[in-house]
Amino acid sequence: MTDFAATKAMFHLPEGVIYLDGNSLGPLPRAATAHVGQAMEAEWGQRLITGWNKAGWMALPTQLGDRIGALIGAEPGHVVVGDTLSIKVYQALASALQLNPDRRVVLTDNGNFPSDIYMAEGLLQMLDKGYELKVVAPEAVAGHIDDTVAVLMLTEVDYRTGRWHDMKALTALAHDAGALAVWDLAHTAGAVPVDLSGAGADFAVGCTYKYLNGGPGAPAFIYVAPRHAGRAVPALSGWLGHEAPFAFDLDYRPGAGIERMRVGTPPVLQIRALETAMDIWDMADINDVRARSVELCDLFIAEVEAACPDLTLNTPRDAARRGSQVSFRHSEGYAVMQALIARGVIGDFRAPDNLRFGFTPLYIDEADVHGAVRILADILTNRLWDRPEYKVRAAVT
Ligand SMILES: *Cc1c(COP(=O)(O)O)cnc(C)c1O
Repeated sequence: MTDFAATKAMFHLPEGVIYLDGNSLGPLPRAATAHVGQAMEAEWGQRLITGWNKAGWMALPTQLGDRIGALIGAEPGHVVVGDTLSIKVYQALASALQLNPDRRVVLTDNGNFPSDIYMAEGLLQMLDKGYELKVVAPEAVAGHIDDTVAVLMLTEVDYRTGRWHDMKALTALAHDAGALAVWDLAHTAGAVPVDLSGAGADFAVGCTYKYLNGGPGAPAFIYVAPRHAGRAVPALSGWLGHEAPFAFDLDYRPGAGIERMRVGTPPVLQIRALETAMDIWDMADINDVRARSVELCDLFIAEVEAACPDLTLNTPRDAARRGSQVSFRHSEGYAVMQALIARGVIGDFRAPDNLRFGFTPLYIDEADVHGAVRILADILTNRLWDRPEYKVRAAVT
């Protein structure tokens, strides 16, 4: 059984703050400051360029890939970290399309994160081969999987509503129709159990700064199923994905397996921070995390509905159909969230009217839920959100 009091003690959580936004940016692992400091002084500072060999920097992307892979049901040696999630979406989709060259449709849903859709649009436009990006409602995805679809590209849990797609069932439907499946795990890795291997996913991508707590700018990851790893063509053919980067050949030859999905120089200091987050994950069982997350989300929904009649639930009530976040709608949602943040309850706002709250059992407990609802109810009952300064939109919401 995971000791959640012990995991909570591993994070720096500012005094007086209830942090319900770990679905956007996880908090700082206490050990990260010293660990990154050590990497800066003893590795970068003392070893300089020799750090690539002597401090093992070059192997970090696959080492961390395997640690993340263990959380998402990936086979060892089939996940690598690097770049940003948007870049990894592009890579995965490009490779998947090349593995299914006779089809022209990429199917996704309108609950997908805009960057995934933008990256797909840009890629299809550049390929200029008559591809079509078909964007349907989340409930309509299964009905649109047919023999025109080359790739089904979905984010497993909807960033706005928390709606959870059935990865295994949809992947099976895609395969039966002759399509490949690319899954974005941005809101599932570290939030719910994922079994990429068991689901038969072809490609998967995700980020490490949300539920995994790797810090702002932490690298993304990509998974390529073993059956594709030696065939997938890396659309972004950078030197570190080359079979022999230090041969400095002028022709590109893809590296073995997942190595070919590397692009350029890995972000060593960010990876050192991510290591301290993964050390905390080593103390946790994702099934315990899921069970606790369901309890916390159910409790939050029940208490908010009892105390805040102005809010409308915008997340599936059935826990089996949602990830680890809860959204409520309010016509002045932005101002309500600013008022909450001013009182130390940090969630976020997603247009047009969603108040979004992430539940992350590694450091959020029942007392936090009670405290957050008490403040939310006070703000709504007494219209404390109705102040001009809470209505001025910041760049990041
Ligand atoms: C957070 C998120 C992103 C962000 O991509 P970056 O390149 O890391 O900025 C992309 N896709 C999804 C589904 C996300 O939730």
